[in-house]
Amino acid sequence: MNYFTYKNSILYCEDKPVQDIAQEVGTPFYLYSKATLQRHFDAFDSGFTGMKHQTCFAVKACSNLSILNVFAKMGGGADIVSGGELFRAMKAGIEPQKIIYSGVGKTKTEIRQALEAGILMFNVESPQELGRIQEIAAEMGCTARVAFRINPDVDPKTHAYISTGLAKNKFGIPVDEALQEYLRAKEMENIEIVGVSCHIGSQLTQIDPFIEALRKVKNFVGRLEQEDIHIQHLDLGGGVGIVYNDEQPPHPTDYAAAIQAELQDMDCTLILEPGRVITGNAGILVTEVQYTKVNRGGEKEKRFIIIDAAMNDLTRPSLYKAFHEILPVQEPAEEAPRHEVDVVGPICETGDFMARDRMMPDIQPGELLAVMSCGAYGFSMSSTYNSRPKVAEVLVDGDQFRIIRQRESYEDLVRGEDLP
Ligand SMILES: *Cc1c(COP(=O)(O)O)cnc(C)c1O
Repeated sequence: MNYFTYKNSILYCEDKPVQDIAQEVGTPFYLYSKATLQRHFDAFDSGFTGMKHQTCFAVKACSNLSILNVFAKMGGGADIVSGGELFRAMKAGIEPQKIIYSGVGKTKTEIRQALEAGILMFNVESPQELGRIQEIAAEMGCTARVAFRINPDVDPKTHAYISTGLAKNKFGIPVDEALQEYLRAKEMENIEIVGVSCHIGSQLTQIDPFIEALRKVKNFVGRLEQEDIHIQHLDLGGGVGIVYNDEQPPHPTDYAAAIQAELQDMDCTLILEPGRVITGNAGILVTEVQYTKVNRGGEKEKRFIIIDAAMNDLTRPSLYKAFHEILPVQEPAEEAPRHEVDVVGPICETGDFMARDRMMPDIQPGELLAVMSCGAYGFSMSSTYNSRPKVAEVLVDGDQFRIIRQRESYEDLVRGEDLP
């Protein structure tokens, strides 16, 4: 459920016509609905009511300060994967004791920054990382709270690039080796063991892999108990999928109920790291059609809609062959003829497309299109490839909107560059 709907044949974000914003802000831009962000956060979080839990939004999905601040005000924490994300989360008002730090490559500087901030815990992903954290905590004269990220070797049945819980993936520590690491950590002066974590992948559309992973983790927690290691935090990662096209992901409430059922007998605080399921369908990318053209050279004619947004602005179609629905901002008539088209950007790569072989009504240059479901891994994955300044981000609240990130200028593009 989101708040991007047609009213009188024009696309609205909540109570604001999308075209009105485009007129003031220019295109392309990312547009988020505050009511949708809040609704999705609440739908997810409230599923765990009755259990000690902390929802830590995965910052990499959508990292704008204003959006993080929406969650901070709702009691949300943050799952971070870099020093930059730590900086953002703190600046957005997220309390450090609600921040967890995941990722296989934490640098010394990043570890130091996180210790200075006093985050809730590090999700440690290798024996060497544990050693490094101990060393830095000792230097600083403080204690580092850690969990190990267990790799449960579970197939999440999602895109290979976003599957993270298989033994062949770079993430986490295999269950069989983890026990030894916990024992090692237990002996370390400046390490406090506080949890176990796992995160098996993203855009999961079935509950079973989560449960399979959870059972392995539970089992492992039992083994830790035998070693007199007691866990306060059980971190189940993120990964609940969303509807881009015709997927049928579990409803967050059903996901939560299934997890709760498995955890009846456990006394610890559950940590959840949702990203996509919160913001994915709370944001769109608004773009203007520049040209249309038909290439008749090949076996069959090929139609193109050329827009002013490109793979640098939204990478998912190029990177994962991801499907994004594309809606004209002015709703086409039901009976309007449709043609198969490629919707492409201006970048000099054939991989620069938003949609391929998509049935679309006739569109004229100057018309606006909305690329749907762009609120997660949209702006946060964007780049300035082809020297295209990063686009603006806008947040709607009712019938009001606010630019929450200015469109970058050409000067921004060359900031820090040196001309001899
Ligand atoms: C990316 C990531 C998440 C969020 O995944 P979603 O699929 O967006 O929910 C959570 N935890 C970790 C460790 C991640 O790397």
